Amino acid sequence: MKIGFIGLGNMGGPMAANLAKAGHEVIGFDMASVEIDGVSLASSAAEAAKDAEVVITMLPNGQILRAVANDILPAMTKGAAFVDCSTVDVDSAKAVAAQAEAAGLLAVDAPVSGGVGGAAAGTLTFMAGGSAAAFAKAEPLFDIMGQKAVHCGDAGAGQAAKICNNMILGVTMIATCEAFALADKLGLDRQKMFDVVSTSSGYSWSMNAYCPAPGVGPQSPADNNYQPGFAAELMLKDLRLSQQAADSADADTPMGQLASALYEQFVENENGLGMDFSAMLPRFEKRGRS
Ligand code: NAD
Repeated sequence: MKIGFIGLGNMGGPMAANLAKAGHEVIGFDMASVEIDGVSLASSAAEAAKDAEVVITMLPNGQILRAVANDILPAMTKGAAFVDCSTVDVDSAKAVAAQAEAAGLLAVDAPVSGGVGGAAAGTLTFMAGGSAAAFAKAEPLFDIMGQKAVHCGDAGAGQAAKICNNMILGVTMIATCEAFALADKLGLDRQKMFDVVSTSSGYSWSMNAYCPAPGVGPQSPADNNYQPGFAAELMLKDLRLSQQAADSADADTPMGQLASALYEQFVENENGLGMDFSAMLPRFEKRGRS
């Protein structure tokens, strides 16, 4: 299959390489100069999209996605599929899907979970929104780039699932970090804290799979001086998207709102920029009650 791939960064690069490795003809484009194994490069996004059966985008945000969609949708062949894997706001996802469908194209919003490691290993989880026909067209490619693809509903449903998932993640990471900091002050050994919580009702992915305490639990960014991993600013981006969606859907999300405010403070005022999102633990360690 001929595939256009736009946005060949930390995630898009290895995803495109995996499609090429599986035997597809991949024509890529990125604003930055990049070289990706097996991927030939076009001189513009529209050129990469022209004649492709499927065009995949993996871009930083909704504003850039809308601009790229304006460029490429008119260049695409009718009946082709436009698959956006970026994490963007639900409104942008719905807007570009409507624009694609009006141009006679299939459209899927399919953000991913699994990070850079999952992109390289081809083990991402895709959460997809769009028609059944659009999902069916993209699914064989999801199978190459990932280990699971869930068709969540109509356009925007993939982004909705992604931001709800990451809102839970932000909240549970903060809860796990503040509980470790409290346990420290109560004189509890961190290993004992992990042994209890990871097998009790406080367990979560944040505790069990990505423990924020160095030297405890499985290997995680905490064991590497909190180098990301999943950067605090990316968590802030996703929490802001969750709050934007909550505003437009009139949903009450007080924990998500507080998590967003805490990550904002951490990233903008407390040296959290460039740190892993689990570096909330040393942040809480340094603080007192007031
Ligand atoms: P990145 O910054 O490494 O890659 C984005 C790429 O898009 C860059 O190479 C940039 O040059 C390119 N780009 C920007 N504007 C462009 C344009 N107009 N035309 C063509 N290319 C353009 O970011 P990333 O980590 O690969 O993340 C991409 C998306 O995936 C984001 O939406 C992010 O939230 C999401 N995501 C990231 C992770 C992660 O762990 N990094 C995990 C899940 C989801």
